[in-house]
Amino acid sequence: MVRITMFDKILIANRGEIACRVITTARRLGIKTVAVYSDADANAKHVAMADEAVHIGPPEVGESYLKADRIIQAAANTGAQAIHPGYGFLSENPAFVNAINKAGLTFIGPSASAIEAMGLKDAAKALMEDAGVPVVPGYHGDSQDPDFLDKEADKIGYPVLIKARAGGGGKGMRLVEDPKDFKAALAGAQREGEASFGDPACLIEKYITQPRHIEIQVFGDSLGNVIHLFERDCSLQRRHQKVIEEAPAPDMPEDVRAAMGKAAVDAAKAIGYQGAGTVEFIVDGSGPLRPDGFWFMEMNTRLQVEHPVSEAITGLDFVELQLRVAAGEPLPVTQDDLAINGWAFEARLYAEDVPKGFLPATGTLDHLTFPEASTFKHGATRIDSGVRQGDTISPFYDPMIAKVIVHGPTRDAALNQLGAALRETHVAGCVTNIDFLSALTHHDGFQKGEVNTGLIARDADTLTPIAVPCSRCRALAALGALGLHQTQPPLAGFALWQPLARTAHLTWGEEEVVAKVAQTGSSFTTIIGDNTHRITRTDTGWDIDGSKVSASVVQTPGGVSVFWGNSYHFTVPDPLTVADASADGGDTITAPMPGLVKNVSATAGDQVTKGDPLVILEAMKMEHTLTAPRDGTIAEVLCATGDQVSDGTLLLALEAEDD
Ligand code: ADP
Ligand code: ADP
Ligand code: MG
Repeated sequence: MVRITMFDKILIANRGEIACRVITTARRLGIKTVAVYSDADANAKHVAMADEAVHIGPPEVGESYLKADRIIQAAANTGAQAIHPGYGFLSENPAFVNAINKAGLTFIGPSASAIEAMGLKDAAKALMEDAGVPVVPGYHGDSQDPDFLDKEADKIGYPVLIKARAGGGGKGMRLVEDPKDFKAALAGAQREGEASFGDPACLIEKYITQPRHIEIQVFGDSLGNVIHLFERDCSLQRRHQKVIEEAPAPDMPEDVRAAMGKAAVDAAKAIGYQGAGTVEFIVDGSGPLRPDGFWFMEMNTRLQVEHPVSEAITGLDFVELQLRVAAGEPLPVTQDDLAINGWAFEARLYAEDVPKGFLPATGTLDHLTFPEASTFKHGATRIDSGVRQGDTISPFYDPMIAKVIVHGPTRDAALNQLGAALRETHVAGCVTNIDFLSALTHHDGFQKGEVNTGLIARDADTLTPIAVPCSRCRALAALGALGLHQTQPPLAGFALWQPLARTAHLTWGEEEVVAKVAQTGSSFTTIIGDNTHRITRTDTGWDIDGSKVSASVVQTPGGVSVFWGNSYHFTVPDPLTVADASADGGDTITAPMPGLVKNVSATAGDQVTKGDPLVILEAMKMEHTLTAPRDGTIAEVLCATGDQVSDGTLLLALEAEDD
């Protein structure tokens, strides 16, 4: 037997978490890696992780990550022997595969002809029908005549689903429930197909009611072996896009698993499939799963976003398998070697604004911490992420922050772990869907395994609650706003001025929060409206009014975030504006930013009038004049010209007012 040597060096034609994921395995196998990057990604994690990195163009994907010729040139120039495409971008582009082969390099994935065979949903369905794989009933012929398709839709029976044949990522689809809406919906799907994929042609499918999305992971090698690695249930979707995936599928009978596995292997064999692929089925979820109740939808000829849940339950590294079969090695396992071990979930953490209709968001990840995790395989929690604290989520690419993956012995255990892992994932600086993901883990039907693709839309209201911070949470935020969350009373300077309180101004959404904070022994006392709380720092979190609270408080450039089950983000308005705007003004002047004290024009005992300039602070080469917050008498000056002070340092205090 000829044993082909593994690659020495590969290029990864992608970015973000999947590029990092591929690099991790390559490194473990001793393979050198070349990253490619756009201007927007010059400092990205995948660039830092790779052994080498090649700049390929401006931020726009059309000018960088989709530029096949530049990417292939980069591989040739760096001596990479093979190219891993990741997912998205050029991963399902047969012309890219042909060009790679022409350059004498290896594409880590299937052949161009296999990709092409599955590229259009209509042709793929026709091919699968011939291979004896059950397909969703419908019309997938060539005619695009609206009158003809209208009649076909009547024959199929309503409701029907119109799909752009070149579609992907949930685009170009229209559900039609009433025949009178058919033609308008067809025109809409065609327009979207043309706009997004340059192909207006559509197919018509029977709309399966109460559907579940169950897909089978397959792998083929160059010797003609094809295996399946069981199923994933990806029914938790929003607008046909996956949100949380799991493996195996809840309530999957062995005979249905075997039938779906066989159908997927047949599908892959029909196109001489090599590498990692996924055969997606729509499944009748109106009752127990049946061997005659699943139908082929499409095949994704690449590594899928949600592959880690299958890695978790099989204990295999799919990127390693991809590299081995691309290098000509046989699959290291046979179907009989495989068994399902435990249960796994993956949640997709995105920068998106859930209350604003899941709008993709951008911003800087001022704070980003994950639960303790193993970077790959085995272990309760795995985080696959392409960003680090301080990185930005730009408008150019998919706003994914991370995939939170958990593996446990049972579904209940794994789901509990997912909830815990999400609670320990703290992001500030960008809005995220994390509270929505957490709400899903608590959903009654989901907990029971009663999943179908309509679940999220049906229960949207309960899944997108806006968690309102209680007064204890606000009190913690106030400590954060004053920079006191990492300190332990009694504090010098501050202690002197007891009973003087410091005032924190925050906003939560549109709501203003004003808190007075004072020291009482080794505790802080906070007063917000009618609510007074006594807060002490503990080793693991906080003690509030005698109850242990495991919350964490994080200061960010624009505000303060409290992570306490949900995430609560407060903004802290510029203290200068607050001082100007507030009527009563408060009793102290604190440094609004780190800086150098340039001048102090007051001494203890001075009578001052609101607005009098008292301290000049230089920060970032600009002078900021801090003025008297109200009329009164200076009690003490706590800074001197030349002092370097940090953000929030108490500079000056007024005597308490008599009343
Ligand atoms: P999956 O079933 O793996 O989620 P999708 O077709 O939804 O498959 O897409 C997978 C990922 O690929 C998406 O999350 C997105 O980041 C990326 N992607 C899809 N299409 C494109 C594209 N045309 N260009 C860039 N990235 C894409
Ligand atoms: P894409 O290429 O965008 O991933 P798919 O054909 O895989 O398109 O369909 C995406 C999603 O739409 C599926 O996961 C499923 O939730 C829903 N869907 C697709 N076809 C049907 C159908 N015939 N009946 C019901 N739902 C469907
Ligand atoms: Mg799909």
